[in-house]
Amino acid sequence: MIKTERILHLKSCRGRKVRVVREHYLRERVPCYSSLCQGDCENDGKVLPGDLTHYVVPDVGVVVDYLEILEFRELQGIVFTQTACQAVQHSKGRRQHNRLRTLLNDPRHDCVLFANEFQEYSYCPREKGESQDKWQTRCVYSAAVWYHNHLAGMMDIVMITEDQDAIAEYSSLNSGVYVISIQDFLQEFWPRLQAAHELYSSISQALQEKESEGSQKEFAEHLAAEVLEAGIKSGRYIKGTLNISKHRPQNEASIMTDGLSNKDADMSRGVLVLGIKNRNRAVHGDVVVVELLPKSEWKGKVTALAGGQVDEKSGEENESKPMPTGRVVGIQQRNWRDYVVTFPPRDGTQSQSRNSQRILAVPWDRRIPKIRISTQQADALQDHRVVVRIDSWESTSLYPNGHSVRVLGRAGELETEVQTILIENCIHVPPFSDAQLREMPVNSPENPWRMDPAQVAERRDLRESHLVFSIDPRGCEDVDDTLSVRSLAGGELLELGVHIADVTHFVKEGSLTNLEARTRATTYYLADRRYDMLPAVLSGDLCSLLGGVDRYAMSVIWELDANTLNVKSMWYGRTVIRSSYQLHYELAQALLNGEQAEVPELAKLGPEEKDAKLAQLTQALEMLTHIARQLRAQRDRGGALELEGVEVRAQLDEERNITALVPRQPLEVHETVAECMIYANHWVARKIQETFPHQALLRRHPPPRQDFFRELVDSATAAGFTIDTGTNKALAESLDRAVDPQDPLVNRVLRMMATTAMSQALYFCTGLESQDQYYHYGLALDRYTHFTSPIRRYADIVVHRLLTAAIDVDRGVDPCKALVGYKELEETAYHINSRNVAAQHAQKLSTVLFQCLYFKERDPQTDPRCVADAVIYSIRDNGMLVFVPEYGVKGPVYVKDREGLVVAVGQDGSCEWQSGSVRQYPDHITTTSACGTATFRLFDHITVRISVHSSSCHPDSLKLEVISNKRHCSGEPQQPRSQGRSQLVQEVVRLAEEAYQQAQVVAARRPKLSREEREFSQSKTPNLYSLLEEVRELALMDLEMAAQM
Ligand SMILES: [Zn+2]
Repeated sequence: MIKTERILHLKSCRGRKVRVVREHYLRERVPCYSSLCQGDCENDGKVLPGDLTHYVVPDVGVVVDYLEILEFRELQGIVFTQTACQAVQHSKGRRQHNRLRTLLNDPRHDCVLFANEFQEYSYCPREKGESQDKWQTRCVYSAAVWYHNHLAGMMDIVMITEDQDAIAEYSSLNSGVYVISIQDFLQEFWPRLQAAHELYSSISQALQEKESEGSQKEFAEHLAAEVLEAGIKSGRYIKGTLNISKHRPQNEASIMTDGLSNKDADMSRGVLVLGIKNRNRAVHGDVVVVELLPKSEWKGKVTALAGGQVDEKSGEENESKPMPTGRVVGIQQRNWRDYVVTFPPRDGTQSQSRNSQRILAVPWDRRIPKIRISTQQADALQDHRVVVRIDSWESTSLYPNGHSVRVLGRAGELETEVQTILIENCIHVPPFSDAQLREMPVNSPENPWRMDPAQVAERRDLRESHLVFSIDPRGCEDVDDTLSVRSLAGGELLELGVHIADVTHFVKEGSLTNLEARTRATTYYLADRRYDMLPAVLSGDLCSLLGGVDRYAMSVIWELDANTLNVKSMWYGRTVIRSSYQLHYELAQALLNGEQAEVPELAKLGPEEKDAKLAQLTQALEMLTHIARQLRAQRDRGGALELEGVEVRAQLDEERNITALVPRQPLEVHETVAECMIYANHWVARKIQETFPHQALLRRHPPPRQDFFRELVDSATAAGFTIDTGTNKALAESLDRAVDPQDPLVNRVLRMMATTAMSQALYFCTGLESQDQYYHYGLALDRYTHFTSPIRRYADIVVHRLLTAAIDVDRGVDPCKALVGYKELEETAYHINSRNVAAQHAQKLSTVLFQCLYFKERDPQTDPRCVADAVIYSIRDNGMLVFVPEYGVKGPVYVKDREGLVVAVGQDGSCEWQSGSVRQYPDHITTTSACGTATFRLFDHITVRISVHSSSCHPDSLKLEVISNKRHCSGEPQQPRSQGRSQLVQEVVRLAEEAYQQAQVVAARRPKLSREEREFSQSKTPNLYSLLEEVRELALMDLEMAAQM
């Protein structure tokens, strides 16, 4: 080993230059991470393959400025030098450095890190007078040459650099080591990777523009990091995440301050940040540091209703009482993501320089500021949605600078809009890669999958002993769960079994499939499609517990006292099952009701055998119902809640097409299955928590904040009911009593409001919460987890592994190596929680998208389907919030408009706008005009007209307008309430297909589509959300809330 000295010139946080001398040790052996290694390196971990045409060694400038291009998974054999990585850390900061580290650690990316500065023969000391840039480039080139020699010339090395001098100097020095520009590299080796070429030109343009920036200050400078730290510590500054108001994005933002709320009652509602200047270049989601303004300058939040489309002036509007108000003095962490923007129509005012044009692109999300993009495609991209990234936001610029990443398509088209929803929620669902699919077991007609005899010998075989069956929505393909039940010991005991798909047998920790499943964390359900968490061979086949085939399962089996249902004994373990019946809910319910029903599995049997089997199955279903009723009663005594949840579900045919959307029917068998799953989840939670007190993944549901119930309590009071929110039990009971016999909607709306007030249920790691935090409020259980749906939830996969380890402990086998630490588990929990919020958000947005596409096709003035009944559930300053049951839509209805006109009601109930005044009361709102006084009360039914508020840059929204203060009578007999939504999805899908076919014809005239646009979907067949077994848990989720917390 050789000791030498290395001189570093670092910049301190204040911008001062510091010279540091470090001892530097050189070694002969530094791993090369190549499978062609000729030098006996210790290459553990990721290794570059040997069958490539070349390895790529990017220069420092390329890694610093063009890392995004190196992130394309198509690029193989990339060697990142230590020199380049350190440069990223110094010049780009922690965020970019983490990004590079993530890339290096991700097995899906074929790249390695070479510690070139520790390698004796590749290290070059800096020469006197040599500039930092020149020296770094020389180091990288030296590393490239070292690779070529180290691999004995068997692999060509391509160094890419943007430094033209370096290309001139080095390109002909060594044969086998090529030095070329990025552009040449892409053209030479990746001519068809269009997205990379586009990204290159967009980044290089953004870099050029950056150099020609003005110097006039638009914003105050941010304070240095150590000043911020000290200020936070002393209490002078407050740190929190910036949350920009959805309704008043131009003016209103707040930061939530966890931790401070206890010390200071003022702070419990957060700190208000008003106006663009005070926001000081912080973007929604950034972690910022604020300084409070003097108390005399504190303001309140605007309380009147406002759609995002309304322009904002707060003049006469009512404000809540003043709250702490401040300004941003620094940013601790940027949380920028990919943003979808729309290139606005050209109006000639945008600046033009050279060939490129600087465009102010408008983000889809109103909370994000306009982003300045330099592009040569400004004309072609008008009215297109484009993915962009922000590069910087200098104090001299009113807007952040960014560059485009790829084009999604024309705004307003279904595919463009669906892709927009995915990107805005950071949902990445590329097709499963070949490498992942190679990990999958084969199951084809020529080569059918068979169980491994060694596995069968290790498992408990239930195929002969147990009658196993599944009950799912009609047409379900991915059967996660099956059930069995039988009577033992002459009827004194009941044995209940829950048998879940053994996904972890197929998905091993550390595999690419597992990595992808973890990244996705869940299957994503949109209104017309789904994106699976696991490849189809698992989710729809080998893991799916289909009828009549042998499958591996993870089972939980209880022996219960037949009278008291007390648990006498428990068994957890791996099993082999063969499900006898794949029932759907309606069929199972028909059997229970004693109705005539055809069970497909019995169709071919003779009458006698058929009757016997039918009797056996029916008896099992009856036993199951009996058990579930008692379990439910136990939980009810503990305070379990029944809330308003999923309203409709899809009925699918064999090809997974939607045949109908049916309202949630109160089928008892559905409750029965759900109850058994809740029971299994609860007992698995107990088992893993007791075995691994600090390393179990559980799911908790925190009690709601009492102040969130105010609206519910006030509205209920207005309707003459008392809602007690003291405990979950009191809430459940008072909701049950709040029934208006004249109007079933009243109870439904109250439950909906209770749902809105709820907190989000969350996964967590037991080691990081005290045990009194484990409680699941909605289910009234002391411990809960997710075990029963491993095909479409990653949490269940983690729990299956924990349960397996717990079973090993019972057997005396050491499971330590299988267990992940609590830190890592907590990270997993956090990741899954955030993905779940994204999944719900995307689902909700796609529903709104479909609603808008549906109503866009109709003329609201003439089409009777645009007129619907609505019920008022909240009163505001200038209008009210209503619920439209036919379409499941909630939204504001104004009674006073911007010009000061108010809704006047004629003799027949019809409404028109006239000048007048409005008065708000706790339980009603009145308008007074020349027509007299009109009153709108809570829980009144009114008639609304539904139309679409279109905006080319932002998502469309539905607009509700009162046209009569009377209940809407369609003239037809009362339709089932799902009718509207069922037609809606079918209609929109049909229109989109027509539009798609038309677009094919004119495709030649449109700008090129990206690869992602063509490969938009993995499962194109329409499939509407249909997760019946989770109704109650789903009811506990609410998006508005998630956004607030
Ligand atoms: Zn080597």
